[in-house]
Amino acid sequence: MTAKTFDAIIIGAGQAGPPLAGRLTAAGMSVALIERKLVGGTCVNTGCMPTKAMVASAYAAHLARRAADYGVTLSGPVGVDYTAIKARKDKVSNDARGNLESWIAGMDRCTLYRGHARFESANTVRVGDDLLSAEKIFLNTGGRASVPDLPGVDDISFLTNASMMDLDVLPRHLVVIGGSYISLEFAQMFRRFGSQVTVIEKSPRLIGREDEDVSAAILSILVNEDITVHLGAGDISFARKGNDIAVTFSAGKAPAIGSHVLLAVGRTPNTDDLGLDKAGVEVDKRGFIVVDDQLRTSVPGIWAMGDCNGKGAFTHTSYNDYEIVAANLLDNDPRRVSDRIEAYALYTDPPLGRCGMTEAAVRKSGRRALVGQRPMTRVGRAVEKGETQGFMRILADADTNEILGCSVLGPGGDEAIHCVLDLMYAKAPISTLARAMHIHPNVSELLPTIAQELKPLA
Ligand SMILES: Cc1cc2nc3c(=O)[nH]c(=O)nc-3n(C[C@H](O)[C@H](O)[C@H](O)COP(=O)(O)OP(=O)(O)OC[C@H]3O[C@@H](n4cnc5c(N)ncnc54)[C@H](O)[C@@H]3O)c2cc1C
Repeated sequence: MTAKTFDAIIIGAGQAGPPLAGRLTAAGMSVALIERKLVGGTCVNTGCMPTKAMVASAYAAHLARRAADYGVTLSGPVGVDYTAIKARKDKVSNDARGNLESWIAGMDRCTLYRGHARFESANTVRVGDDLLSAEKIFLNTGGRASVPDLPGVDDISFLTNASMMDLDVLPRHLVVIGGSYISLEFAQMFRRFGSQVTVIEKSPRLIGREDEDVSAAILSILVNEDITVHLGAGDISFARKGNDIAVTFSAGKAPAIGSHVLLAVGRTPNTDDLGLDKAGVEVDKRGFIVVDDQLRTSVPGIWAMGDCNGKGAFTHTSYNDYEIVAANLLDNDPRRVSDRIEAYALYTDPPLGRCGMTEAAVRKSGRRALVGQRPMTRVGRAVEKGETQGFMRILADADTNEILGCSVLGPGGDEAIHCVLDLMYAKAPISTLARAMHIHPNVSELLPTIAQELKPLA
C-alpha cells in the first residue's frame, strides 16, 4: 500500500474536475485527480458530444431526403451508413478525450490516478492500493442512467445512453422508454437513420417541465417524422419475444415489439459507492450530495460539483460549479449557484433553447406579466431555410420590465436564446431588447420585434 498526501484530491474527471485541477495546480497546489473510467466523463464519452455528433449525421440524412424541396437533385436514394456514423461519432469523442488527457498530463503537480475512489475518512481516499490524503477534497462523480424497477426489466437486454454508444447495428425498431430531453434526441436521430421508433412516456405529455404548447409542438415535430408516441403509458413491463422485446403498457392496445429498448427515464447520482458515510458527507433522499450556495458539503474541506450535487444536470452547470468553487477559493470572489439563470437546450431538430421562467412558472408566480410570441412561419430566416416548425416566446414583468424568460423552438434556437440570456444576466429591461438592432435575416432578428409587441399575459 502506498500512502501519499496532496494539497487537494479531485474525484471524477468530468466537466468540473479537470479545469479545477488546472486552476489549483497553477496556484501551486499538488493535486490527485482520480478517474475510474474515461477522462471527460459523461459529456465527452456518452453524453453531449457523441449525441450531438450523431444529431449532426441525422440532420444531414434528413436534409438529403428533403433535397428536392430545395431544388437539389440526388442521383439515387439517400443511404445511411450507420457504421460510418458511429465511426464519426467515436472520432469526435476520442479526439476530445485525447485532448483532455494531454492537457491533464501536461499539468505540473497533477497526478492522474486510474481507479475507483472511496472515502476512508473525511480527508483520506482509497484508490486500489493507494491511500491518498488531502485537506481539500472535491467530488465530481456525475451520474448514470437510472434503471427503473419495472416488471421484466431484468429479463431483457436493454440499452442506456452509455451502451447506445457501443451499438454497432442500426436497430430495426427502437422502443424508447421516457419522453424527455435525452430520449427525444435519440428518438429523432434513430428515426432519421432509418429505424422505426416508438416513444413510451408515462406522463400525459412529452418533456413535462416545458410549457404545454412547447410539448405539443415537439410532439407534432416527432409525429411528422413518423415516430410513434404513446403518452400516459402506465404499468410498463417487458418480456422477451423471440429475438425481440415486447413492451406492454396501459395506454397501448397492443404491446410495442422492439428489436431494441432504450431506457431514458432519468439519472442517478454516482454517490452510492463513494463511502460518503465514512466521511460524514450528507446526501438527500435521492442520493444527491447536499451542498450550500458555494458548493460546500456538510463536511468542511469537501466540495461537490456537477450532476452529483443535484443543482444542475448539464455540462454548463458542472463547469459553472467549477468556476464558483475556483472563484471562492482562489480569487476572493464570492460567486454563488444562485447567481445563475436556468438555461439549457433540447437538441431535436429544430432545437429548443430555453432560459429563465416558463410561461407556466410566470403564471404560478402570480406577478403581472407581459408576453410576446411569434410562430416560425412568420420568421424570414426560418421560411428561407424551409424550417418553419416551432415558435418563440418572451416573458417580461409588467411592473419592473425585467425579462423573465424565453423559449425559442426553431432553427438555431439553441444559439438565439443567448441574446436573451445575456440581457437577463445584465439585468437589462425588456426595452433594451426592444430597441436593439439585430442582424437580418436571422431567427434572433425577430426577438426585438416580439419585445415591441408584448401584451398582458391573460
Ligand atoms: C445522452 C446525454 C446527452 C446529454 N446532452 C447534453 C447536452 O447536450 N448539453 C448539456 O449541457 N448536457 C448534456 N448532458 C448532460 C451532461 O452530459 C452532464 O450533465 C455532464 O456530463 C455532467 O458532468 P459532471 O462533471 O457532473 O459528471 P460526469 O461528466 O458524469 O463525470 C463524472 C466522472 O466521475 C467518474 N467517477 C464517478 N465515480 C467515481 C469514483 N468513485 N471514483 C473515480 N471516478 C469516479 C466517472 O467515471 C465520470 O468520468 C447529456 C447527458 C446524456 C446522458
